[in-house]
Amino acid sequence: MKRRRVLFVDHTAVMGGGELSLLDIATAYRETSQVLLFTDGPFRERLEAAGVSVKVAPAPEVALTMRASGELSALKVLPALWWMACQVAEAGRGFELVHANSQKALIASALATLMGGPPVVWHLRDILTAGHFSRLNRRIAVSLANTRTALVLVNSRATGEAFVAAGGRRKLVSLLYNGFSSDAFDHLAPEKPAEIRTELGINDAPLVGVFSRISYWKGQHVLLEALRELPEVHALFVGEALFGEVEYTSHIKALASTPELEGRVHWLGFRSDVPALMAACNIVAHTSTEPEPFGRVIVEGQLAQRPVVASATGGPAELIQDGVTGSLVPPNDPVALAKTIRELLADPSATAALAERGRTQARTNFSLETLLAALDKALQQV
Ligand code: UDP
Repeated sequence: MKRRRVLFVDHTAVMGGGELSLLDIATAYRETSQVLLFTDGPFRERLEAAGVSVKVAPAPEVALTMRASGELSALKVLPALWWMACQVAEAGRGFELVHANSQKALIASALATLMGGPPVVWHLRDILTAGHFSRLNRRIAVSLANTRTALVLVNSRATGEAFVAAGGRRKLVSLLYNGFSSDAFDHLAPEKPAEIRTELGINDAPLVGVFSRISYWKGQHVLLEALRELPEVHALFVGEALFGEVEYTSHIKALASTPELEGRVHWLGFRSDVPALMAACNIVAHTSTEPEPFGRVIVEGQLAQRPVVASATGGPAELIQDGVTGSLVPPNDPVALAKTIRELLADPSATAALAERGRTQARTNFSLETLLAALDKALQQV
């Protein structure tokens, strides 16, 4: 089957979860398709290294920095968004479809249809609730989706339900879970985890890893607070603040340097060797305080055969069967998180069985092949 000719559009070029997912998709579609970015950065380099054709049309700064949660922001940047729409319409010539990978990409791509741009598929990777998006921005996104898109791919049931609750048409929605190649997890050099532990200087101490960008709603502070009740346990934070969040970063760094936690918290910044780092951990934690749309880190932790403990809200509750393929805890509850970590560490054989079942499930339900087959089918129908 020949894949469709798709113009993939994303507003950002930093490596968030949506970009890592699009990297896999665009790589599979590289014979027929192109990626349009509104800013240059590491994502462009990763795409080109994978043989994907990329076009960069640097958008006015005001459109890129507008905060999705800010009231009126979308209206203020209308001229810049219109300029972006013109770019999509022009780059879209010769393509059968536009795949909008972010909310800003959706706005530009939907407006481009007014200028003869190709039909739009919105890959919705956000939970459209007040916690993440202002009412006006939700309304704009949902109205454009309802009137100017052919399909809304949602990365979890939770994402789809939030779209419908915000006024989105259910008929447009199609569920498309993320998919992962297990290669990097399966072919790790066996000595790697021990090397990482030596570099961290922690020997056999229990290590809990968080692999999210630094942001309040990703809840790094929840693990830090849980750590106060777990005097032997170390924490590994992998990821950086991708969208500012300077205040939160200094808040959690200050928390980590209190005497109770000092020496037990390790900050590594953004890393490209997540599989090896996960393998060095005893537990992978995902501590979002708000509903997480999907939570790639959860499936990755399962592929690394690590017990995963995650907040029981949004996508994670679809990825983990509590006590069977991982553990779920109430969000923003350091006491419950500490209790679960203690239990997982106390019973190594039950925890190993949990991790093994998680791995089997991740390989079966969330493979890259499954994702691509479902995406090919969905796009054929547009
Ligand atoms: N990640 C990474 N390096 C880091 C931190 C995170 O490559 O230093 C990856 C992580 O492995 C995962 C993605 O970033 O694939 C984050 O995706 P997730 O769905 O968990 O969160 P998002 O960033 O989309 O909100």
